[in-house]
Amino acid sequence: MVEGRAAGNLYTRYGLNPTIRSVEEKLASIEGGEQAWVFSSGMAAESATFLAHCKPGERIVCIGDVYGGTYELLAANLPSIGISTTFLLGSELARLDEVLGHDTRIVFFETPTNPNMEILDIGAIAAIARQRGALTVVDNTFATPVNQSPLEHGADLVVHSTTKYLGGHSDLTGGAVIGSAKHLEPIWIWRKNLGQMMAPEVAFLLARSLRTLVVRVHAHNASAATIARRLAEHPRVERVQYPGLERHPGHAVATKQMRGFGGMLSFVVRGGAADASAVVDRLRLFSIAPSLGGVESLVTQPVTTTHHGLTPEERQRRGIVDGMVRLSVGLEDVEDIWTDLASALGD
Ligand code: PLP
Repeated sequence: MVEGRAAGNLYTRYGLNPTIRSVEEKLASIEGGEQAWVFSSGMAAESATFLAHCKPGERIVCIGDVYGGTYELLAANLPSIGISTTFLLGSELARLDEVLGHDTRIVFFETPTNPNMEILDIGAIAAIARQRGALTVVDNTFATPVNQSPLEHGADLVVHSTTKYLGGHSDLTGGAVIGSAKHLEPIWIWRKNLGQMMAPEVAFLLARSLRTLVVRVHAHNASAATIARRLAEHPRVERVQYPGLERHPGHAVATKQMRGFGGMLSFVVRGGAADASAVVDRLRLFSIAPSLGGVESLVTQPVTTTHHGLTPEERQRRGIVDGMVRLSVGLEDVEDIWTDLASALGD
């Protein structure tokens, strides 16, 4: 069993635990993958994936905006052990073929991205990466498997922070990697020896949450679409970033690769950071928190939280402006959510 030659349960840190295996089967099934590994957090899932598939001297190409912790892992931690990352903006995709050297093992991205809700074309990127011998790894946390199946579009691995929509109640921390047995196999030993296993009690909570994933995500999709449309009409709002809006620059690609557009959106308050802060401070139903994907509506200002670690120049280059507000639209009555936003905007 220790060597994997016989089936059975043995020791939880190895993943040889019935509760862990059961939730892994569910996750593999809903993402359309052969196998899944769960982890103690989304960052654990990402770091084990990068370490398993890249050796010192090899490279990752990261496209578009990514979660701040992922950026720090790629920009600061992995270079210290000889694994480097080339960062491309979503608008620089034409350069992908050029930057994919013989040493690139992974092309990594989120779609939709955080906080700009940019849409990256999974099929187009995966086709280029495959030609150059690199694996495509997609963080599907924002979209969820209900709205998007990256493996169907050519991605090799999908990662999740299950802390978000898959857990769905802001009461667990976890991560997952899903894909073919061949691509998952080298990740297993890193998870085991870095001690990144999800606790079985958390796996139980996650499995219970998955039972309501479809209805939760459909409700998040519907409410976020309503809120996005209303915000877009509001005179104090400069722009709204939600892939379900026809005017969103990624709408056509989103329609091609997504079944629903998710519960996340961002908007820019006319004025600047102080005006955006004033709106955020007036919200009553929303809690100010940088997490997302739970039953409750959450609000955050990327410039002061999730993207605070970037230099002002880097934020500007990435279009993360001072007046930006990000919403995780929860499962409260959509009219209550709108009433809160409208009164915070001064109606
Ligand atoms: N990926 C995305 C898109 C995230 O938003 C986050 C966390 O906010 C992570 C990964 C990391 O997940 P965790 O906090 O579970 O380690």
